Amino acid sequence: MGNCSTCPSSSKCSIQNKDKCGKMLPKYGSIKNIIGVISGKGGVGKSTVTGIIASKLAKAGYKVGVLDADVTGPSMPRFFGINHERAEIVPLDEKGTEYRFVPVTSQLGIKVISMNLLTQVEDQPVIWRGPVINGVLNQMYSDTEWGEIDYLLVDMPPGTGDIALTVMQNFPLNSVVIVSTPQDMVSMIVKKVVTMAQKLSIPIKGVVENMAYIRCGNCGDKMRVFSKKSAEEHAAYLELPLLAELPINLDLAEALEEGETESYAALNTDYDTLASSVLR
Ligand code: ADP
Repeated sequence: MGNCSTCPSSSKCSIQNKDKCGKMLPKYGSIKNIIGVISGKGGVGKSTVTGIIASKLAKAGYKVGVLDADVTGPSMPRFFGINHERAEIVPLDEKGTEYRFVPVTSQLGIKVISMNLLTQVEDQPVIWRGPVINGVLNQMYSDTEWGEIDYLLVDMPPGTGDIALTVMQNFPLNSVVIVSTPQDMVSMIVKKVVTMAQKLSIPIKGVVENMAYIRCGNCGDKMRVFSKKSAEEHAAYLELPLLAELPINLDLAEALEEGETESYAALNTDYDTLASSVLR
């Protein structure tokens, strides 16, 4: 982290914010807050939580962007129902060595960039080694026409490997939200990513316990299907504040599948606590 008052570049520097010193900045726009959504393990609901938070913030009137940094397993275009669209790739010179990307805009005006909006066919894999993926990821952040953004949500790659490290080291993340499910084995893996963020001095907002319970259709009681421990106990193991407990919800699962995440999540008051915890 830099110290602007003693930095020799201070007079020429446009950042003037020691927390963002040395980090990449977007070339085409300005972003007030960057929030990473991270889990350490795939399939726990990281993309789901990203989609819910983005939809809620957009509905509340914020200018929102989503960077799908899960390059090898991107799901954001589907969740927003924009998977049949393609982000425009604009060459900046005749040789075609530099480009900028035009993000695809969702119904609520969320600007989304994802590997799946840049490749021709949605189910075509990217079979690239880490350094290539890292390069593309950096470009997806810095070379996208974001314009003015209040909140950029980064759907982080799972794990504590090279690609997650790229995001945490290069992007000026203001904070991260951790997503977990109520299983000791998942908590153990999620703890690794919590420690990684702490070692890199990235503030952590807290943990969202996803798939925390199902609600009985007859009596309305909460039934914890994965663990006898409470969400608070799992959060205590991670030594993090509990931001929200999200139930297993078939309507949500269907909305995600149908690309109707925004219309479902934006109007669902169950997600208000989660959205407001991000704004704090
Ligand atoms: P990750 O990004 O961690 O890999 P996803 O957000 O893609 O996980 O979620 C994996 C799958 O689980 C998705 O198909 C999604 O529909 C489903 N899912 C996630 N959270 C819930 C939930 N609370 N209720 C029902 N289905 C969910």
